[in-house]
Amino acid sequence: MTHVFHRNPRAELPVAARGEGPYIYDTSGKQYLDASGGAAVSCLGHSNSSVAKAMKQQIDGISFSHSGFFTNQPMEDLADFLVKRAPANLDRVYFVSGGSEAVEAALKLARQYFLEKGETSRTRFISRRQSYHGNTIGALAAGGNQWRREPYAPLLMSVPLISPCYEYREKKNGETEWDFGQRVAGELETALLDTGPENVCAFICEPVVGATMGAVPAVKGYFKRIREICDQYGVLFIADEVMCGMGRTGSLYAVEQEDVAPDILVTAKGLGAGYQPIGAMLVSEGIFTTIVNGSGFFQHGHTYMGHPVACAAALAVQHYIEDNDLLSSVRHRGAQLAEALTSRLGNNPFVGDIRGRGLFQGIELVADRMTKEPLDPSLKIHAKIKSAAMAAGLMCYPMGGTIDGQRGDHILLAPPFIINDGHIEEIVDKLGTVIDEIVGSLPSSRA
Ligand code: PMP
Repeated sequence: MTHVFHRNPRAELPVAARGEGPYIYDTSGKQYLDASGGAAVSCLGHSNSSVAKAMKQQIDGISFSHSGFFTNQPMEDLADFLVKRAPANLDRVYFVSGGSEAVEAALKLARQYFLEKGETSRTRFISRRQSYHGNTIGALAAGGNQWRREPYAPLLMSVPLISPCYEYREKKNGETEWDFGQRVAGELETALLDTGPENVCAFICEPVVGATMGAVPAVKGYFKRIREICDQYGVLFIADEVMCGMGRTGSLYAVEQEDVAPDILVTAKGLGAGYQPIGAMLVSEGIFTTIVNGSGFFQHGHTYMGHPVACAAALAVQHYIEDNDLLSSVRHRGAQLAEALTSRLGNNPFVGDIRGRGLFQGIELVADRMTKEPLDPSLKIHAKIKSAAMAAGLMCYPMGGTIDGQRGDHILLAPPFIINDGHIEEIVDKLGTVIDEIVGSLPSSRA
């Protein structure tokens, strides 16, 4: 009997005993290839000795000093590292312990920024349908994932939702990719005018959507238009890179590939690669100086912000990635993985779409490839795929997202940046077999 009360207390989970590179071993010695990095966390794989050494060194020095009393060297060094590589305007870093905390901080900072500027009516946020920004009350409110919001809806601020830039489902027949991007970006202007731009603090979205859609990048030109609209109405743009940031898509920050700079960027998962829980909010100099010249400080904070061991771990992770040129590997291995997935699964009648960027790849399963009709949610195909993959020694991240109020199924892959040819083969072989097995029992679809 377990006394742990996490998600489903009835689920019988294996006990993780040790990790080595991209593999996790349970207490029975069974090996699992971590093709999802947990939930896009473990970008270095497991048991990286240089990260362990940096953490030990930090613990031997000082394991905790409260940020209200002291700064600490790894926190200072990590902030320097992140800012030097960030879009030019992002100059200041606020450290937290994870993604939801980073999003909460961003929402509150946006509000305080406008208060300091005397634009006191700005209290609203705009986001997109089928989005997820975290599970705390503010972050949950900011997301458009109906299934997660529903039980808490009376507690959540109301957030206007626009269409995501989800080409597979939202692009109309005959519409060019460019026109599609401009149309869905244009919905932000409509939502702003409906809400009253003078009432809006910020627009928040993921540059490449993770958990709710399965690795969906925006089409070219979309983010440039989003940036223009935000500028035109004096609204901040918050990029949520909790999942897609820190190299996952082949550049340190995913938004770099869109050629725009957000006002606030939040990141977490890959920052500490799971060696420690850590998140960060990068903030533009303009926001920072407005706060400093106003009330003088950001009225927020958490006990563990800038935790020295978490910062030491994250710094070692980021140096390891840079020293070993792992972002090149992400681009190269990502292309290889996408190609192998397409050749193994591209003709499967239940595979509607394979998409992604870098080592962030998604497979969308459908009942019918012609109509793109989602699988019947009651079949819980995503859950069956997860269990069958675990039985086969493969970790992948299948999710039932929300498609127009209906739940659809996709599988997210986010393997460690250190994977080689053999690992890619193993991922595709095992996943292919699992998908064949699970969807093989369904009535056949029109190809
Ligand atoms: N934003 C995004 C885009 C995420 O994917 C997640 C976590 N899946 C969060 C925020 C919340 O992060 P955390 O679970 O670390 O609180």
